Amino acid sequence: MDTPYVSLNQWLRQQFQTKVIKLSLNANLGCPNRQNGKSGCIFCSAGGSGDFAGPKEASITAQLQQQKALLAKKWPSARYIAYFQAYTNTFAPVDVLRRLYEEALSFEGVVGLAIATRPDCLGEDVLTLLKELSKRTFLWVELGFQTSKESTARSIMRGYDNAVYDQAVSALAACQIPVVTHLIFGLPGETTEDMLSSVRYVCRRPLWGIKLQLLHVLRQTPLAQQYETAPFPLLDQETYLDLLCRALPLIPPHVVIHRLTGDGPKKDLIGPLWSANKKAALNAMQKAFVDKKVRQGSDIFAKECKNYFPTAFLSCRKTGFDI
Ligand code: SF4
Repeated sequence: MDTPYVSLNQWLRQQFQTKVIKLSLNANLGCPNRQNGKSGCIFCSAGGSGDFAGPKEASITAQLQQQKALLAKKWPSARYIAYFQAYTNTFAPVDVLRRLYEEALSFEGVVGLAIATRPDCLGEDVLTLLKELSKRTFLWVELGFQTSKESTARSIMRGYDNAVYDQAVSALAACQIPVVTHLIFGLPGETTEDMLSSVRYVCRRPLWGIKLQLLHVLRQTPLAQQYETAPFPLLDQETYLDLLCRALPLIPPHVVIHRLTGDGPKKDLIGPLWSANKKAALNAMQKAFVDKKVRQGSDIFAKECKNYFPTAFLSCRKTGFDI
């Protein structure tokens, strides 16, 4: 099917010539934004925004085994990206990180690593480790940025300012490590222009992939408390689709789209409830793209963004892939 954007699924299939699936892991590393009296980003769930990751008590190998077993019947020849998803996955001494990453890489069928972290947790020693690993495997780093509007960043308790993000993406790009940035649409008080500004902000900087997510209010989060005390408007489906239709043309064609919807646990979702039906949301999205003739990168803005992570650069690493 001709999709009007480069999806991660498509991109991985093209690179690896087979189905590649992310297996979500919880390395139980915690998060500096949830320690020493800090309550974390206000939308973050008890599971550290990794609610589909394996159980934190289980080893990395056991978590990979469990998830592979569930998928093996449907996708017998799939390969896997070990996705360190929950909490902050560079928040530990480098020898601990090395052991965790190496354990994942040694698991049969794993062809790469995805590491979700915060821009303020990428010290020199961590970057050196990531750079070393990225020379022999396919590796990307995901950064939770959410918004470029500093006042919103403060109100959601993101815990760092934009300059920290800028510095982190420059450092990762200097190490030739692909960056995936996570943005949230629908944060309290943000206008359409604020959200589109965030898209432009990240696209002007080193970027290989992007995740766009609808704000979910999840039970037992500071955001849920706020919503219950002083309810604020949540995005309806039409508004969210309109935002996507305006955002996609801004995103340069070389940027891989990792996500266009939210993915929170249904049992904890307070709102927006329409997003719980993921299949219907995805169908409505595809229809909106066709009806409005939306294409990734069609806006003049996208054409002027620099291509920091050309596909050719990633392809050349394929020589080291075990497939
Ligand atoms: S940085 Fe990630 S894990 Fe930490 S509080 Fe924010 S969303 Fe949660």
